[in-house]
Amino acid sequence: MHEGYGFSTRAIHAGQEPDPLTGAVAVPIYATSTYKQDGVGGLRGGYEYSRSGNPTRTALETCLASLEGGNRAFAFASGLAAEDTVLRALLAPGDHVVIPDDAYGGTFRLFDKVASRWGLHYTATPITDLAAVTACMSEGTRMIWVETPTNPLLNVADIAGLADLAHQHDSILVVDNTFASPYLQQPLALGADIVVHSTTKYLGGHSDVVGGAVITATDEHAEPIAFHHNSMGAVAGPFDAWLTLRGIKTLAARMDRHCDNAEAIAEYLVGHDKVADVRYPGLVSHPGHDIAGKQMKRYGGMISFRHKDGEEAAVAFCDRTEVFTLGESLGGVESLVEHPGRMTHASAAGSPLEVPSDLVRLSVGIEDRDDLLADLRQALD
Ligand SMILES: *Cc1c(COP(=O)(O)O)cnc(C)c1O
Repeated sequence: MHEGYGFSTRAIHAGQEPDPLTGAVAVPIYATSTYKQDGVGGLRGGYEYSRSGNPTRTALETCLASLEGGNRAFAFASGLAAEDTVLRALLAPGDHVVIPDDAYGGTFRLFDKVASRWGLHYTATPITDLAAVTACMSEGTRMIWVETPTNPLLNVADIAGLADLAHQHDSILVVDNTFASPYLQQPLALGADIVVHSTTKYLGGHSDVVGGAVITATDEHAEPIAFHHNSMGAVAGPFDAWLTLRGIKTLAARMDRHCDNAEAIAEYLVGHDKVADVRYPGLVSHPGHDIAGKQMKRYGGMISFRHKDGEEAAVAFCDRTEVFTLGESLGGVESLVEHPGRMTHASAAGSPLEVPSDLVRLSVGIEDRDDLLADLRQALD
């Protein structure tokens, strides 16, 4: 249903028909673990137990599948739970995966410390470089994992190019679409096989819920994911699913405002004499600008830059902002600032994922642009 409608119409209505019993316009929070059966096996709405299925979660999953252009979606308790389930469902011990050398730290830890104990092998490589990725493909490679833009360096990978490469090698392409959200980028249409999200970020959008999602393109992948979703059990609860669905309704409006503010801030930072190496895919100087222009609708709300006066100055800057709240995470309505080297990416020190010590990351929110600019100005000067 709603397939012919535009993005925002589907964000607001897909999977969210008014409640047939009461007419309630907002999807109810079905806080129930089980469902009365009309005689043994007589299921009224197809539901028997809420790990296997819950109507609030179904509404979210239907909406997510529509927004990513997938055949099915699955809502998880967190982004990492979604990622773990993808690995178990689609790979086997002994398989090899190519991952970005600047993957989200938690993703790297999942491959390095958890999946490796189960027998999965990985190679971390610059995922923006198709030749480098090609060189990592081996007999046992079954998956390329990519995140674009990346966290926290905002590198941009060529999704269509990676999808072709994966398919030439009997592999699949998984795209972590958290930074872009389906409003800005739809990897399945570019040839990816699977999309994963931390819905904690832009999809939820209000820093009030942790969640994850997997969206598949075909039944071949949906079926093993569905089986493992239920068998491993890391499902989204009904209240979390409801909060996420509520956030998604305003995704397009929020993302446009995130992009407007981030574009203005990126330009301001480029002109500041204490700032070096502004990383924002919307800047013509960004190495991935052309690819981003092809595969993204706009360039998103994340920016990182280096403080010319070094690590201590970068840390002091993070401590001085007032409208930008010092904190981890991203993608909410409120602007956040952080020092990746000592916060989100501290555990990457000494690994291929280590980040520059003078790096600052901004998650640009949807407050008034002039207040954000003034805040950065007072913290830099
Ligand atoms: C936050 C994040 C994750 C992990 O999601 P959680 O919801 O925190 O488990 C995965 N990928 C990216 C790009 C993220 O930013």
